[in-house]
Amino acid sequence: MNNLNKFVFTFGDKKAEGDALMKDLLGGKGANLCEMNLLGVPVPPGFTITTEMCKVYLKEGKEKVLQMIKTEVENAIIHIEKLMGSEFANSSNPCLISVRSGSRASMPGMMDTILNLGLNDEAVEGLIKKTGNERFVWDSYRRFVQMYGGVVLGIKSQAKEDRDPFEEIIDQLKEEKGVTLDTEFTSSDLKEMVRRFKTAVKESTHNDFPSDPWEQLWGAISAVFDSWMNERAIYYRELNNIPKEWGTAVNIQAMVFGNMGLNSATGVAFTRDASTGENLFNGEYLINAQGEDVVAGIRTPQQITVAGSKRWAKLTGISEKVRARDFSSLEETMPEIFKELIEIETKLEKHYKDMQDIEFTIQDGKLWLLQTRNAKRTAAAMVKIAIDMYEENLLDEKTAIMRVEPNKLDELLHPIFDKKAIKSAKVLAQGLPASPGAATGQIVFFADDAEEWSKNDHKIILVRIETSPEDLKGMFVAEGILTARGGMTSHAAVVARGMGKCCVSGADNLKINYKARTVEINGLTLKEGDWISINGSTGEVYEGKIGTTEAVLNEDFDKLMTMASKHSRMDVRTNADTPQDALIARNFGAKGIGLCRTEHMFFEGVKIKAMREMILADDENGRRIALAKLLPMQRKDFEDVFEVMDGLPVTIRLLDPPLHEFVPHEEENQKEMAKEMGISIKAVIDKVASLHEFNPMLGHRGCRLGNTYPEISEMQARAIIEAAMNLRAKGIKTHPEIMIPLTGTLNEMLLQEKIVRDTFETVFAERNDRIEYLVGTMIEVPRAALVADKIAESAEFFSFGTNDLTQMTFGYSRDDAGRFLPLYLKKGILKFDPFQILDQEGVGQLIDMAVKKGLSTRPNLKIGICGEHGGEPSSIEFCHSIGMDYVSCSPFRVPIARLAAAQAAIKEVMEFEKNVHNIDIKKESENKTHPIALIA
Ligand code: ADP
Ligand code: MG
Ligand code: MG
Repeated sequence: MNNLNKFVFTFGDKKAEGDALMKDLLGGKGANLCEMNLLGVPVPPGFTITTEMCKVYLKEGKEKVLQMIKTEVENAIIHIEKLMGSEFANSSNPCLISVRSGSRASMPGMMDTILNLGLNDEAVEGLIKKTGNERFVWDSYRRFVQMYGGVVLGIKSQAKEDRDPFEEIIDQLKEEKGVTLDTEFTSSDLKEMVRRFKTAVKESTHNDFPSDPWEQLWGAISAVFDSWMNERAIYYRELNNIPKEWGTAVNIQAMVFGNMGLNSATGVAFTRDASTGENLFNGEYLINAQGEDVVAGIRTPQQITVAGSKRWAKLTGISEKVRARDFSSLEETMPEIFKELIEIETKLEKHYKDMQDIEFTIQDGKLWLLQTRNAKRTAAAMVKIAIDMYEENLLDEKTAIMRVEPNKLDELLHPIFDKKAIKSAKVLAQGLPASPGAATGQIVFFADDAEEWSKNDHKIILVRIETSPEDLKGMFVAEGILTARGGMTSHAAVVARGMGKCCVSGADNLKINYKARTVEINGLTLKEGDWISINGSTGEVYEGKIGTTEAVLNEDFDKLMTMASKHSRMDVRTNADTPQDALIARNFGAKGIGLCRTEHMFFEGVKIKAMREMILADDENGRRIALAKLLPMQRKDFEDVFEVMDGLPVTIRLLDPPLHEFVPHEEENQKEMAKEMGISIKAVIDKVASLHEFNPMLGHRGCRLGNTYPEISEMQARAIIEAAMNLRAKGIKTHPEIMIPLTGTLNEMLLQEKIVRDTFETVFAERNDRIEYLVGTMIEVPRAALVADKIAESAEFFSFGTNDLTQMTFGYSRDDAGRFLPLYLKKGILKFDPFQILDQEGVGQLIDMAVKKGLSTRPNLKIGICGEHGGEPSSIEFCHSIGMDYVSCSPFRVPIARLAAAQAAIKEVMEFEKNVHNIDIKKESENKTHPIALIA
């Protein structure tokens, strides 16, 4: 059977039909379960139904899939039975299984999993006989009914303030029995729980809970496929740019039990610290527990290492005595198992050459691995781990660079609490430092409220007992997340780190009342809307707002940037209009300014008055008088920018927006302007009316302004070159590049070029000195791309203004696209927002053509991009591939662009090496999605 019509892949007993490279087909979880078997790591036997079947399921429905996989699944179940020595759907010796989701990219907790499947009233009896452990069996059964009821039968809470109906029953029973932890339930309590669960199922679905294991199995498989399209999975994919076409695999695996008693446990571990990146093995576990208990914050989890345990105790204010007695580490409670776990985690990290996130279960003194994957981590950890692994010789330089996700660097640039402000702040509570950062915001308790509040521009902190995958959207819009329960591996912690959000978890002196929407902390009651601040690096929770300062970048970051520069071919410049922005960008390593807009230089204070005077003037003479007033102010602005850039090239764009943007449109302001200028209000109103355009975007703007009012371009050219000459007199070098906006024909360009060159020559003659400069154009009108060879006769450089070029190529007005773009994305009419990610297929074709045509006329044509896309990694890769010299982006995206430029160059080299030497280079992008700014 070849892979084309093989839909089920088995693994078990150190053998497997798949391996880690088959993520596309088997999903990450399935592929790695296979790989772990091949590595000799103990993994319960099982099999994976391929992602191909998910596609069939979504297209052709359940029946079709069942028909396609039935025989293969039945055979694979026999494979499990043989290795386990038990039988599925046999009541006297039942084989229980888990049915787990798992897609190509890891989507932790977004889809569904069902444990202990195969149980029914008869199997319960059989299993009790077999194990002699009644409590364990009833515990497994109640978990199964709850999970199956929730996931497959869709039994959920009705209102957000309500708890899950099954949890409700558990709480009720706890109260009746006077217990607080579910480990305290006796087997007869658990039996009663199952009875009530089943009654709830019957009430809600009007059917009995399904008792046939095969019916349970097919139901669960369908539910996992369905979970690919559940709301939170869809949202997670949107956030992380994961294509919906990928689908999920279904993993079916023999159960191993962490809930068999005190010699059993379940846990989660990381091979390094996911917050800081430190090379410290760490994790959490719970004795006599199963599956997600650790993550769900059901009990306070214990730490795996002694060191971690002591650190935790210190943070939570627990004495060493109590820690050692009630919360001892795995290293202390099960030293042999701990040793084995260390061996396995070391082996896995060495093998995958990346930090791993692992799940394990200890069944009656035997260790089993249930999952390994490249761990989600904060940006700081991502950078540190890449640099460390390079220095540990685990990765070469190129691979280390490829390990860092450019967009995620953004996180490192976020502000931190101001040192002074924090000293006088009042600490309300201490939780766990689950995800670093500083956040200040208003308390909100529910995810949907968080969305509402943030829509109204509130900064909020989502405060919850614990979070669940349903809360994803609320977490995304929050400044930070604070939970009362859960540890460092809790849902809140893991998701927050993945999102780069600040999070404090397990602050257990928080008493949250969802119904009243209050939280009580040591006697102080805070309500929805009150301000708090949290520090995700220390776990501290503060009262009120706390001021922040800019982030400080560390040595690892510098090392990474140095490495990146070494490997990139393109330069990174910045879009900056002010000396302040220019300085920020320079400090981030920008190699020049790729776009300095001049319009703001007409706006501030007295400038606007002179500008309006020019606009109001009736003739050229009047305009020249007003422009003469603007000249010294512009010159000063340019001097300031040149000074900061100290010898680096600065591309200055001549005036671009339509003139009506400079005059007031409300009567109030028009009156004021009339008064100021000493003219009648009517004159102002008439002028404003005369500037009205039906479609200003396509109207009197860009070089059309400079060609109808050449004196404006002339004044700007003079201001630029005089500024440059003035600085030269002070010994500061400048490299001005004058950029003509919105060119569409060669003549437009020639006219502007002449004005600039003539003005420059005049000034050179006046000063009896000259400097080097370039005159070029922005390519942003499709026609310019089409006749780029002609335009290059005049232009010495091209800078692609991809914002306008995208608008005009699609014919979408960016300001109006909000009306339909979100829907287009939702319906899949567009795969991404072309204003965020360069449309390589369409707009890219124009750019590519313009580059080729331009170079054919002028082989040394300098080429760059200055649209928003210049800071977006996939667009940067495109710019590299068509041979641009530089990209230009906003100051805070400079580090991101530098890394992306290096990655583009490295990818090219890797491809080349692969083709020439036929070296098999493992695709770095495999397990990595490229989160882009949220679409829609
Ligand atoms: P997720 O993708 O949300 O992590 P998983 O499929 O990994 O979901 O499973 C959820 C939990 O159940 C995990 O803690 C996992 O280790 C546990 N689990 C899954 N299958 C088994 C099994 N066969 N035996 C024991 N525990 C299991
Ligand atoms: Mg898992
Ligand atoms: Mg433009």
